[in-house]
Amino acid sequence: MPELPEVETVRRVLEGSIVNRKIEDVIVKYPPIISDDSDTFKKNVIGKKIVSMSRLGKFLIFNLENGNIISHLRMEGKYFYLKKNELDNKHIHVKFIFDNGYELLYQDVRKFGRICYKENNDLYSTKPLKDVGIDLILNKEFDYRNIYDKILSRAMAIKTVLLDQSIIAGLGNIYVDEVLFKSSVNPHKKSNELTFDEVKRIVDNTISILSKAIEYKGTTIRSYTSSLGVSGGYQDFLMVHTKTVCPTCKNELIKDRINGRSTYYCKYCQR
Ligand SMILES: [Zn+2]
Repeated sequence: MPELPEVETVRRVLEGSIVNRKIEDVIVKYPPIISDDSDTFKKNVIGKKIVSMSRLGKFLIFNLENGNIISHLRMEGKYFYLKKNELDNKHIHVKFIFDNGYELLYQDVRKFGRICYKENNDLYSTKPLKDVGIDLILNKEFDYRNIYDKILSRAMAIKTVLLDQSIIAGLGNIYVDEVLFKSSVNPHKKSNELTFDEVKRIVDNTISILSKAIEYKGTTIRSYTSSLGVSGGYQDFLMVHTKTVCPTCKNELIKDRINGRSTYYCKYCQR
């Protein structure tokens, strides 16, 4: 599942290929992928030029000359930028056709991904981006105390709180396990029992782990590659996720489930 580093990798590749291209047509083969009415969506985006690519948490944002397309890849969403008609299959649900003979294809085997259009004024003030918490890679002006207060206001397993996106954005199942291991915090620990120092370590390690993962173009495990010909290299740096032995104390790692998500941690190093 793409998390912040994988989405940032997609953003960077798309920035190099589709910025300044005009969308000449949009073909929606599977309408539920578009959260809006698909005819309205087409009316809003056809004829517009893409001026930049941005991101917030795990959301990709195509900034148009007027308006924006927001895309969330969820479990398996991928983009392919190819010459027109070079590729088609039943998992390709949306096609953006450009003025240069190329097209951007959205493929999603699980069909969980969503694409929508937002006017500039509504972009950050309405769903889905309004509910996205702080993106620690984009926002360096954050306040540790503010994040600590928000985390303390919940009474759930810290892993659940971090997966929720509404306090800290961008972490998914892989990087949450890595951040909590590096921060010596047990993923089951209730968020309202965390100390300020533990929250500060979680914030600092989120920044360092996500930054390094971006540098290595994300993590490639199981079927997920970020498409566009990029496969990540951060899997070589994973400490606990998918592992069996603690790299610090050499005891066997615990593998269990939190909120239905497979969770790896060391019960000796993470308290
Ligand atoms: Zn350990």
